[in-house]
Amino acid sequence: MDFSWSEQDRNFESELTTFLNRELAPFLEHWNGAQSAAKQGSSAGVMGAMEKRKAWQHLLQRERWAAVLWPESWGGRNASVSQHVIYTQVMAKYRTPGIYNANGIVQIGPAIIEWGTEEQRQRWLPNILDATEHWCQCFSEPHAGSDLANLRTTAIREGDDYVVNGVKTWISSAQIADWGMCLFRTDPGAIARGMKHDGITMFGVDMHAPGITITPIREITGDSLFCEVVFENVRVSANDRLGEENQGWSVSMGALGKERVGSAGQAISMANDLRQLLQTAKAVNPGALRDPLIRDRVGQLHTQIEFTRMLLERALSKVLQGEKGFPEVPLSKLQWGYISLWLAELAIDVLGPAGLVTKGGEGAIDDGLWARNYVWQRYTTIGAGPTEVQKNILADRALRLER
Ligand SMILES: Cc1cc2nc3c(=O)[nH]c(=O)nc-3n(C[C@H](O)[C@H](O)[C@H](O)COP(=O)(O)OP(=O)(O)OC[C@H]3O[C@@H](n4cnc5c(N)ncnc54)[C@H](O)[C@@H]3O)c2cc1C
Repeated sequence: MDFSWSEQDRNFESELTTFLNRELAPFLEHWNGAQSAAKQGSSAGVMGAMEKRKAWQHLLQRERWAAVLWPESWGGRNASVSQHVIYTQVMAKYRTPGIYNANGIVQIGPAIIEWGTEEQRQRWLPNILDATEHWCQCFSEPHAGSDLANLRTTAIREGDDYVVNGVKTWISSAQIADWGMCLFRTDPGAIARGMKHDGITMFGVDMHAPGITITPIREITGDSLFCEVVFENVRVSANDRLGEENQGWSVSMGALGKERVGSAGQAISMANDLRQLLQTAKAVNPGALRDPLIRDRVGQLHTQIEFTRMLLERALSKVLQGEKGFPEVPLSKLQWGYISLWLAELAIDVLGPAGLVTKGGEGAIDDGLWARNYVWQRYTTIGAGPTEVQKNILADRALRLER
């Protein structure tokens, strides 16, 4: 590992912490105050907190802190890799709220900047940035998840439009989305020809268009984060195509696969969570912390979190020296999946039966946070690339194991 922050990086950090020292406490006081349930919605989790997230993103973008990776001309700060790492670490340290449209800011906006026409950028980017419009990402299908290139929702050209038919599934926040960044198959014969990565095209789709049916899917948490989206003869203008026809695979991989070491804040968030859990346990069930098996698990978790922090720092060091952050980035994704699950399970064992009481229930600890985490954290081994797929990548490309 070999890096130190430049003077510009330190100025960037100091400007961000000045902003947070000034704005965060009053914001949280307002939103977590007496009427918090009314302000945030009655359900727990991401969907229940959308109004708060919208207000927070709006506040961030007023001083160009919502989309630091975007160019300055589009309201960002053109942040370098190291500044982006500083940003995610500081936001994790301050435990800032989530933003309204992380997909829009982190993945969709940069894709529009890179591949969109000037007219598309003018039309879409300002509303993503200031949280006026919400975008979802319509990629996965019932038979195309890890194997995304197997997608079969078709978009067939008819005059100035494409006509779309098919089903997308697990689409986060589609029920509140104004627009969807969607991958469709424009050459249906490509799969039969053994060329499944060809014949795919990216579109920006008006999610209120006739023929789109969005059905929220209830998760194990009781929340409905994601949805099924059915397209029946939906007309999408050719003007809303992102990039050239049949170039959708490059559009999605080019924009979404950027080497950003973007998960650098995760180790800090996990360390914060462990610290919060121990504090809560001391207050509600101190006897559990004297159990040698529990103490052993706490020690192991702490060590694994530190190890993950160092993995991410080594990835950053490599990227700053012009190398790829490989294999540290997929390794830390694996770590994140495991540690989140271990932490969620430890919480239930440490807090005792009250740890299982959900939000609103009598005696719920930390407003039901740990009970929700226990079921919610299963997603960390699936989202952003399932565990088995990360292992395949490491086996193939890092260890070069024979198939
Ligand atoms: C909380 C959440 C939010 C999501 N939001 C979105 C969204 O907004 N937009 C979107 O498009 N999608 C979204 N997804 C879908 C997500 O991208 C897919 O779930 C993911 O790509 C896995 O695909 P799948 O569910 O079809 O599982 P599959 O790919 O069918 O995998 C099933 C199991 O088989 C394993 N497996 C698959 N292939 C291999 C292999 N080659 N070798 C070994 N094991 C393998 C997997 O690891 C997994 O355990 C979301 C998922 C979750 C959990």
